[in-house]
Amino acid sequence: MTHCGNSTTVTLPGGYVDQHGVRHREVELAMMTGADEYFLAGLDAQACAATLITELLACCVRRVGSITAITPALLRALLIGDRDYLLVKLRELTFGGQVDCVLTCPQPACGEKIDISFNLGDLGYESKPLDSCYFTVRLPRDEGEEAQQDESVIEFRLPTGEDQEALAGLFRQNPEAAADELFARCVRPGAAHAATAVALPAEARRTVEQAIQQLALDVEIEIATVCPECGATVKTPLDFATHFLSELKTNLQGIEREVHFLAWHYHWSERDILAMTRNKRRRYVALLQKEVDRLNQVW
Ligand SMILES: [Zn+2]
Repeated sequence: MTHCGNSTTVTLPGGYVDQHGVRHREVELAMMTGADEYFLAGLDAQACAATLITELLACCVRRVGSITAITPALLRALLIGDRDYLLVKLRELTFGGQVDCVLTCPQPACGEKIDISFNLGDLGYESKPLDSCYFTVRLPRDEGEEAQQDESVIEFRLPTGEDQEALAGLFRQNPEAAADELFARCVRPGAAHAATAVALPAEARRTVEQAIQQLALDVEIEIATVCPECGATVKTPLDFATHFLSELKTNLQGIEREVHFLAWHYHWSERDILAMTRNKRRRYVALLQKEVDRLNQVW
């Protein structure tokens, strides 16, 4: 991450390929202002995480490569892995890299709560820059079968935030149907098999799914530790989006205290205070606290 004033530039592991085939990887992220923090903390917690991620990115993404007109549609068109990566970078920028969370030991007889701390800056991410929106995979053919060449090639794309948002409801109700639907969405319309993507023979579908998996980014954060109580190995993926969104909610009370503190002493308006970035607001809070403590000592 390169810091510059109130923004940071990061490089997407995958990247966004626009309609002209140009790849955009460099993203400028702006630090959240108090108003952003306030807005994000107030979002409907029942909404799907993918929708909340789009809102979060809409607050903070200023540029994607050479694209400065940032629309929700563009943010939805980013790969799932790239969006997850931006979320991690945004968390580092806003609250720092240190993550504290509590796990529950999976051993039924134990159930001990385990405190875990790690730094997001220590995590490595593989980089798989995209060359195009669509990729091709050749399907395996039964021996002796004389298929047309174009029938044995399938074009597909990788899942994006838009797919995630569209299918979130279905995923909750019927994960299998959602997986079918996602597969059908990712196979290029107009391709020989597109209309019947779900009806592809199992082996052919597996081939396409493996190709998708090979190209897709893996930004999952896995936590591994040993339970101090029973010694069991605890390994679990961290739902980072949910973790970050709940931090933003918890953060709300702190913001209100800080706004109140600054408004009380400086008589600044709430609007002006919330227009500051979190870091700037907290620097003022620290300065003022020092001053208040000094005066208290004098009296
Ligand atoms: Zn245990």
